[in-house]
Amino acid sequence: MSAVRETEEQWRQFLAGDWTPADSGRTFEDRDPYTGEVVAEVAAGGREDAQRAVQAAAEAFAGWARTPPAQRQAVFLKAADALERRRDEVVSLLARETGCTFGFGMFQMQFVPGLLRQVAALAYAPVGEVIPSDTGAFAMGLRRPVGVVGAIAPWNAALILSARSIAAPLALGNTVVLKPSELSPIVGGLIWGEIFSEAGLPAGVLNIVTHAPGEAGAIGDELVEHPRVRRLTFTGSTATGRRLAEAAGRQLKRVVLELGGYNPLLVLADADLEYAVNASTFGAFLHQGQICMSARRIIVERAVADEFAGRLAEKTSGLKTGDPKEPDTIIGPLITEQALQTVRRRVEDAVQQGAKVLAGGEQVGPCFQATLLGDVPAESELAQEETFGPVAALEVVDSAQDAVERANATDYGLAGGIITQDMDRGLALAQQLEAGIIHINDQPVGDEPQMPFGGVKNSGFGRFGGTAVIDEFTDLRWITAQSEPHPFPF
Ligand code: ADP
Repeated sequence: MSAVRETEEQWRQFLAGDWTPADSGRTFEDRDPYTGEVVAEVAAGGREDAQRAVQAAAEAFAGWARTPPAQRQAVFLKAADALERRRDEVVSLLARETGCTFGFGMFQMQFVPGLLRQVAALAYAPVGEVIPSDTGAFAMGLRRPVGVVGAIAPWNAALILSARSIAAPLALGNTVVLKPSELSPIVGGLIWGEIFSEAGLPAGVLNIVTHAPGEAGAIGDELVEHPRVRRLTFTGSTATGRRLAEAAGRQLKRVVLELGGYNPLLVLADADLEYAVNASTFGAFLHQGQICMSARRIIVERAVADEFAGRLAEKTSGLKTGDPKEPDTIIGPLITEQALQTVRRRVEDAVQQGAKVLAGGEQVGPCFQATLLGDVPAESELAQEETFGPVAALEVVDSAQDAVERANATDYGLAGGIITQDMDRGLALAQQLEAGIIHINDQPVGDEPQMPFGGVKNSGFGRFGGTAVIDEFTDLRWITAQSEPHPFPF
């Protein structure tokens, strides 16, 4: 397979194992959200490119599906090594392309090789079963890869979220068309063309189509409508995910959907307050709050509310805002000017309606300060919508039970945390929280490749990690073998 793209600053699409310009010949500029500089010029693909990608994936499917598991496994182990060798370059690209701070870049670089190594074992995972039959037949339940998987990934944790969209489907014997976000076409997309080429993945097994801002729709439509695409995975906003799921429903295609969250962190009166402050700060402000699991609301019991609020405000005010390429920066830029303005508008609007600024509250160049608000009115947009930025709302409640009720009063249900020193109480409350992921004595942000990751309610369905992916990306079939002829009634 031809290995290398054109130059550092120019990236073509990765179709059928080749670096290919867009069918239209167009390109777009991929920009650094902090400096505004052009990171690279990238192919602006469209529906024809998506069609070619699906075609290539469909042609590669039969060969890849019957490749012995040991060979498939080896590809993922090599890919993990290949990625690790490029650690510094990838962390730097994460900063340049997505404004990702050093700490979160390193977290992604630690998570993804682990994911690839765990996924390597999936090549052997689809074991079948022999099922007792009353007809005398030898009956089996067998798993087969589904075919072509269409993967749509976001920009925020670009390396992790693109890796998890493609790795398990590929390891299970499927072929994939990846559509990265227009805001992270390299580190959330094209980089995988290089990594997997080096690891020996055959041509056509992974295809990557990139597109200019505002032009995702046509590629998404092709992935949804092309009959050879049998499953879809989507990570992104609830609005886009809903549209995709509706369209996929018309085509009777299964989708794994991981959408937004409005994630609560409960701080109970018996919490170690220093730990609670540290957990809240990390959970709310890592990657400037642009994580689907970010703690958006911190719900604290009244008995400790004043002291907790004061300490949390102080810590929040001390977080360094600025250039994500400086290793001690905690709050880097928001991904786009539009995202920045949405955060700013929602904060200003909440304040106008009566919210109090306990820390932050201001735009600083392309960044928004880590912001803690109290008394956010329930009617404000900030209290109702996921606001993808460094803003947390502090809410005071009279009891842990009130905290649970508040936490559940949202359409979302991705992640949550409960800080308490009473583990039994924590476990009892965790049962009551309506979310796919709950951490006791921790904040909501966290992931490990072997865990069942996903939400309930408007945060989506299906699971990305662990063994759940076997069901998501294979078909279970019933096969029988009748060794004795048996009588038919007519
Ligand atoms: P975010 O606001 O976090 O960027 P989006 O849902 O807009 O979330 O983006 C997540 C992914 O969905 C990105 O890859 C984006 O390009 C893609 N996307 C956006 N609109 C569509 C669409 N109409 N069809 C398919 N994918 C889309």
